[in-house]
This record gives sequence, C-alpha cells and structure tokens, in this order.
Amino acid sequence: MNLDFTPEEDAFRAEARAWLAAHVPAEPLPSLETEEGFAAHRAWEAELHADRWAVVSWPEEFGGRGVDIFKWLVFEEEYYAAGAPGRVTQNGINLLAPTLFDHATDEQRARVLPSMASGEVVWAQAWSEPESGSDLASLRSRAVRTDGGWLLSGQKTWSSRAAFADKAFGIFRTDPDAPKPHQGLTYLMFDLKAPGVTVRPIGRLDGKPAFAELFLDDVFVPDEDVIGEPGNGWRIAMSTTGNERGLTLRSPGRFLAAADRLAALWRERGADPAVRDRVADALVGARAYQLFTYANASRFAAGEQIGAESSLNKVFWSEYDIALHETALDLLGADAELADGEWAEGYVFSLAGPIYAGTNEIQRDIIAERLLGLPKGRR
Ligand SMILES: Cc1cc2nc3c(=O)[nH]c(=O)nc-3n(C[C@H](O)[C@H](O)[C@H](O)COP(=O)(O)OP(=O)(O)OC[C@H]3O[C@@H](n4cnc5c(N)ncnc54)[C@H](O)[C@@H]3O)c2cc1C
Repeated sequence: MNLDFTPEEDAFRAEARAWLAAHVPAEPLPSLETEEGFAAHRAWEAELHADRWAVVSWPEEFGGRGVDIFKWLVFEEEYYAAGAPGRVTQNGINLLAPTLFDHATDEQRARVLPSMASGEVVWAQAWSEPESGSDLASLRSRAVRTDGGWLLSGQKTWSSRAAFADKAFGIFRTDPDAPKPHQGLTYLMFDLKAPGVTVRPIGRLDGKPAFAELFLDDVFVPDEDVIGEPGNGWRIAMSTTGNERGLTLRSPGRFLAAADRLAALWRERGADPAVRDRVADALVGARAYQLFTYANASRFAAGEQIGAESSLNKVFWSEYDIALHETALDLLGADAELADGEWAEGYVFSLAGPIYAGTNEIQRDIIAERLLGLPKGRR
C-alpha cells in the first residue's frame, strides 16, 4: 500500500479545500432534525450540487465528478476539516444510490439520481419495523399485486429524517408463502406524500423529531418503482448494508476532524494527565481508522469485495465516537451539562452508533462467524 497521494489527488484536495473555504457557512446551520434546519441543509445541498461537490464519486451525467474512492476519501477529509454541515441527503446518497447503481434500470437511475444529488428530493430508509430490527428478515409489511403496481400496507419505524423527507425506500413482503423469511421480499421506492401514508414523527430525548414511524394503508407504488426483480429484495438489501457499514457511512475524515477539535479543546481547557492520555488515544484512533480505511479502499479499488470486514469498521467507529465524546465532556466538566453545544449533542448521537446500521452485537457475531470462523451462535 502506497500512502502518498498523487499530484492529481493533491490538486483535487486543493480545489475542494478552496471551494469549501469560500462556501461553508460561517455560522453552523440549525439542526437538520428540525423543519427550519432541514430546509437550510437542503439549500446547502443545492449549493454543493451547483458546483458538483454533492456526489463527487458519481458519474458526471448524474451530477458527480466520476472520481475514484481515494479522491472521495480526500474530499471527505476536507469536508469535515472545513466544518461543513451534516449531509441531509446521506440516506439517499449512501444507501439508495449504490443500490440503484448496482440493481436499477437506466430509466430509474436517470429519473431518481439527479434530484437526489441536488437535495430536491430527500430520501428516508424504511427498513426497520416495530418487531423487525436486527432480525430484519422477519418483516411483515406487505406489498400486494394490483393493476400496474403494488399496494403497500404495514408499519415501518425509526426512519431517520422521514419527518421532513420526500420519499422512502424499503423492503416489503410480496410472497407470504415463501419457504424462508428472507425469500419473497421486494425492494421498492415510495412517496411519503402519497395517499395512504401517515408519517408520525418520533421525538428524541432533546425533543427534535429526528425519526418517524410510517403507517402504510394500501399505498400504491407503480411497477417502475420496484428495484430489481420482485421477490429478490433481500439480496439487494444486503448489498446496501455492506455499503452502509463499510466505506461510506462514516468516512475517517469525520473522526480526524473531531479528534483535532478535541485536541484544540484540550489545549484551551488543559486537564489532568489521565484525560490528556485519552485525547492522545483519540488522535491515534482517528489515524488508525484512516489507515484501516485506506487499506480497505485499496482492496476495493483492486476489485475485491469488502464483505464481513465492514463489520470491523462499524464496531470501531461507533465505539471510538462514544469515547471521543466522553473525553470532550470530561474536558468541559459542568459546562457540558449546561451547554446545548455540539459536544453534548454529538455525545447523545454517538450513543446510537452501536445500534443503527446493524447493532454491534450483530456485527460481532458476523466477525466471529465469517472472519474468525467460529461456530454459529444460537439464534
Ligand atoms: C439513530 C438511529 C437511526 C436509525 N435510522 C434508521 C433508519 O433510517 N431506517 C431504518 O429502517 N431503521 C433505522 N434505525 C433502526 C435500527 O436499524 C434498529 O434499531 C437496529 O437494527 C436494531 O433493531 P431493534 O432496535 O429492533 O433492536 P432489536 O433487534 O430488538 O435488538 C435488541 C438488542 O438485542 C440484541 N440482539 C438482537 N438479536 C441478537 C442476536 N441474534 N445476537 C446477539 N444480540 C442480539 C441487539 O444487538 C440489541 O442490543 C435507526 C436506529 C437508530 C438508533
């Protein structure tokens, strides 16, 4: 593995840095989990898109720059180092888009991707159900055949940003008689404003409606919004989770920037040696994660599948994120309790890291079985 960047990659970094320096809002945008913040973040996405920074790795025809994974990582490093806003389009760009690139028709890609890239249509992920989280294959929401399409019914839950999003993608049971739970499922897209959809926001501890439950009552979805073959939804969904846990959900740029901010906080506040050591651990951890990701990216660029290694990533960054925020709160002391600042909010969000994108217990099972070759656990 060669860790030097090419002159072309350095030039790309400089271009991204200059653009971000000129455009990142001086004041943080309001939280994207509020109506006002959601609108502000959507406008930011349009600004990114106008200069083709919204989806750098996508082909140019869909608004990207067609860059490889290394330049994407470079962009992410610059993005977070510049303190740029969180990405309200994340679910669409990181989860639905890779699925469309791999499994959709040309017509679907041409129809869906451009408005996703510009933030005009924001997507929510509608996978989890009240009784189907880790055991996703047990999902019960149905899609029943009708003239020209499907009728959806059932309930989805924990859909991030669905309170303000426009559309959603999810998996539905289309063959209740299939011999195994992960068979007879179909992957499709639907409009959150369609007749029969009720979106009920779920308030977080801080009162912001970050999630929503979706109640679906005979919601019509035309055939053109089915992704891949009906009945093949599980295989398609699994290719999406690899993306989510693996390279795209939490790029190292985010943690490198957070570790730098933590070091700055430590310089400002000073602290006892025990906390200083934890600040050093955070800096080293961010760098380790960066190198691990570069290694994975090199394998990916060489045509290898990332596979079960993506579970290592996920466990690492989620636990790292909590430790980093706990250290920041210890540095802030009582101020952390009083402030509604980024560290306090970041800490609360970090606690969810071991749960979303597949819980860490499930990731550890995958690591044990598929990477270490241990016997299957009892399930
Ligand atoms: C911040 C956040 C955002 C989310 N966003 C979305 C979203 O946008 N769209 C969406 O569809 N979902 C979303 N989710 C839901 C998330 O995917 C689920 O919470 C997750 O899959 C776990 O499911 P569950 O909550 O039903 O827990 P359960 O599956 O009921 O698990 C409960 C506990 O039991 C453990 N457990 C379960 N089975 C096993 C096993 N076989 N072996 C060992 N331990 C086990 C779990 O690890 C967990 O600790 C989000 C969740 C959070 C916290």
